[in-house]
Amino acid sequence: MNAKALTPNRGRQAAEPKPAAAAPAAPEQDSTQTIAAAITSAIIEHRLAPGAKLTEQKIAAIYGVSRTLVRQALFQLARDHLVTLEPARGAFVSQPSVEEAQQVFAVRRMLEQHLVEEFCDKATTADFRAMRAHLKLEQAVVGRVDVTGRTRLLGDFHVLMAERIGNAVLAQILSELISRCALITLMYQSSRAAQHSSDEHVAILKALESRDVKLAKTLMEAHLCETENSLLYHPRTSSADLTLALAAYAA
Ligand SMILES: [Zn+2]
Repeated sequence: MNAKALTPNRGRQAAEPKPAAAAPAAPEQDSTQTIAAAITSAIIEHRLAPGAKLTEQKIAAIYGVSRTLVRQALFQLARDHLVTLEPARGAFVSQPSVEEAQQVFAVRRMLEQHLVEEFCDKATTADFRAMRAHLKLEQAVVGRVDVTGRTRLLGDFHVLMAERIGNAVLAQILSELISRCALITLMYQSSRAAQHSSDEHVAILKALESRDVKLAKTLMEAHLCETENSLLYHPRTSSADLTLALAAYAA
């Protein structure tokens, strides 16, 4: 959703003609992204456990960069709800509880029954076209290893439905709810479950296109239950040692 939001490209050089690929982005921005991506991978791959402390100084030493860059990376991760920043205590890998995830899904089930009804009622040809375009993208990405990207796209399907029919409040609430579970989804959703989830989106959209509100509601309810059940709520033990978790992968 907002991976770039925190890193304004203030360092972009205008002098060079742009090559087709690998344009020399501002090195600072590059490092921020690299560190953010490395920490994300360490979390997804269970090398860093929920609750692990992320010490700026240690991370800076591991990557040989300034603490400012590390701080920027941590800010970015906090925006994605993967990291929690605590005043005077520092940064930690977020720790969404199982209860919290279950509550989020329960609220989503309620809200999204309404969403389906409203969408069925209001959606225009253009809205369906936009949803189909999103699904195309989703299906292309879902099988790949880019776990963060696919998690985001799967969530965006729901948010986009609300946006398309102009319900900004619902879109915002859904987006927030989905983000709250991002860590759990990232860590515990298999790529098979992600593919399955996307296939369910296809079926939901099909029901909506035939304006079968009853079927669409049933499918949405089943989809949210399936998604919740596909997450394994059993965190494996991981390293609390930053050097062990990050250093070997820093190159
Ligand atoms: Zn979904």
